[in-house]
Amino acid sequence: MKRDIFTADHELFREQFRRFAEKEIAPKVAQWNERGMSDRETWRRCGAAGFLGANQPVEYGGAGGDFLYDAIIMEELADLRAHALMLSLHSDIILPYLTAYGSEVQKRRYVPGAIAGDILLAIAMTEPGTGSDLANVQTRARRDGDHYVISGAKTFISNGQIGDLFIVVCRTDPDADPPHSGISLILVEAGTPGFTKGRKLDKLGLRGQDTSELAFDDCRVPLGNLLGREGQGFKMLMAKLQQERLCIAVASIASCRRALDDTVAYVKQRRAFGQPIAAFQNTQFTLAELATEVEIGQAFVDKLLAAHVAGDEIVTEVSMAKWWTTELQKRLTSQCLQLHGGYGFMLEYPIAMDYADAAVQAIYAGTNEIMKVIIAKRMGLGG
Ligand SMILES: Cc1cc2nc3c(=O)[nH]c(=O)nc-3n(C[C@H](O)[C@H](O)[C@H](O)COP(=O)(O)OP(=O)(O)OC[C@H]3O[C@@H](n4cnc5c(N)ncnc54)[C@H](O)[C@@H]3O)c2cc1C
Repeated sequence: MKRDIFTADHELFREQFRRFAEKEIAPKVAQWNERGMSDRETWRRCGAAGFLGANQPVEYGGAGGDFLYDAIIMEELADLRAHALMLSLHSDIILPYLTAYGSEVQKRRYVPGAIAGDILLAIAMTEPGTGSDLANVQTRARRDGDHYVISGAKTFISNGQIGDLFIVVCRTDPDADPPHSGISLILVEAGTPGFTKGRKLDKLGLRGQDTSELAFDDCRVPLGNLLGREGQGFKMLMAKLQQERLCIAVASIASCRRALDDTVAYVKQRRAFGQPIAAFQNTQFTLAELATEVEIGQAFVDKLLAAHVAGDEIVTEVSMAKWWTTELQKRLTSQCLQLHGGYGFMLEYPIAMDYADAAVQAIYAGTNEIMKVIIAKRMGLGG
């Protein structure tokens, strides 16, 4: 179906990004997946070409566009299966915290470098003992004179190794009631004494993306590293999760399309019982149903993209899109793998990695169960 949310400028931008990505990104995907990490030079090239912070303010080096420019980048990266290069994590999930809540000093110090690709960003919420129950984080930041002293552990942190600046979710008031009112966001630069990057974790999917443990052992940072106000961390996180979850839905539908298109091509050339497997009614019905669902998902995501750009509060709908599109992606990649037969299980066929990569979509940025908790609560269900 023709999509009507993009202007001619957006389409031009898509063409520019596609050309850039074919040259600078596509040839490196296999190598990133092999070594479990992207490379700094590519981030810098993305920055130099204007592809980081496309929707960030011009005064800090951004392009001042709308979120649709970044959505285009997400779609194109998903199409290339370039999951190693999480530009959306940097530009659309973490940078907005700095531009929305950072002091002028913090913005001047970090935002231009982040947009240039010199300062790579990460956000550290999850801990070994708590993920979904974010209000229960135990990493402690206590005041000592004009410093915070941070102690605790984080895990599953994307960009954990390559990152230069970390937004660390800390408990500044252990006695706060309710507990979430004691949470603050604190900026910690890589290399700060007491901050150690731990293990790079070995994962089922997203093989090229660096996901790590982090440790804070009496890590001292100036009070000026507080982002926003003390005790407001949880509120800031909740306010920014709408965009984070929309990013997942956008990428999910784009990944579905890639897997579906490749499977359609495969079933046309693979033969069994003297005919292409595309001729079997089971193949046709499976792919017809999946193609239908991808169109339904795309229509919903496009509607949400337009609403998000218009500034609407669409937390419920974005939560719906996050769980629905990612469940579709899991089911679609499983069914497409099945249509590849034994070849689908071989890593040399992209569908095998698509299947593995899909699993995490239902887990991070709030699990799909948490999405349903949010929706149900907003429907007035439960206590
Ligand atoms: C590849 C990857 C990258 C990640 N990147 C980051 C990152 O950059 N920064 C970061 O901070 N975190 C990151 N995470 C962490 C991710 O956000 C958490 O894994 C996720 O929020 C779930 O938390 P958990 O793993 O502790 O699971 P748990 O909270 O222990 O959940 C386990 C199961 O219980 C279910 N459950 C929990 N609570 C409820 C409930 N109330 N009702 C019903 N079911 C419930 C969950 O849905 C899940 O099925 C990443 C994770 C992965 C795998």
